[in-house]
Amino acid sequence: MTVYIVPFLSVLVGIGVALLLKPTGKKSLKLLLAFSGAFLLSLTVLHLLPEVYEATLHAGGHEGHDHGHEHGGGHTVGIFIMAGIIFQIILEYFSQGAEHGHVHNHGHHHGMPWLLFISLCIHALLEGMPVSHHPDLAWGIGIHHFPIAIILTAFFVNSGMKKIPVLLFMTAFAAMTPLGTLLSGQLTVVEEYYPYISAVVVGILFHISSTIIFESGEDHKFNLAKLLSIGLGVVLAYYL
Ligand SMILES: [Zn+2]
Ligand SMILES: [Zn+2]
Repeated sequence: MTVYIVPFLSVLVGIGVALLLKPTGKKSLKLLLAFSGAFLLSLTVLHLLPEVYEATLHAGGHEGHDHGHEHGGGHTVGIFIMAGIIFQIILEYFSQGAEHGHVHNHGHHHGMPWLLFISLCIHALLEGMPVSHHPDLAWGIGIHHFPIAIILTAFFVNSGMKKIPVLLFMTAFAAMTPLGTLLSGQLTVVEEYYPYISAVVVGILFHISSTIIFESGEDHKFNLAKLLSIGLGVVLAYYL
């Protein structure tokens, strides 16, 4: 049950924080972003990546082991990871980087930013899929979406959107990750191609988490607080 609740509640709490506390401390948000990016990247590398390779290598194992080089899942899975990276880059053309907490103020928004909404939802839905096999990833996604929810809610409210559409919009976003987890447990198609879908998500997580880490700092100036936040993210992911 926690796998559904954590990613959902983290966004709701983020909305609440944005609406009630109206956080102005950009510095603490940046540290939270740096931590969440490092935590997510470490979870991906430590937990998700080895499994994706192992699952596909076993699946391609019948090709014979006397081959000089690996022809089986190893190559294929790498292509799926790269496809995930490219897919996330394409999503960000439409979302303008909302998934990593990057928002642009182009004056006032009239009506719903539908393209942003749809690409953000696709992103969150896909992220939910490997959670069915990796309950610990629910925490990574929850922590990743928490600062994003704060930043996006504050951005929409400040850009003149009414509170009710913002709440509906953000709640739908909150529901996408648990929905992805639910779908991947229910649909046999997802179950059948699970290692490849996971590989795509690994690519998405690679791109998103490294972008979060990159954008959480000013240029490339040395920043001890940022470095410590990243270190904490890595250590926590290791012990999870
Ligand atoms: Zn960005
Ligand atoms: Zn996400």
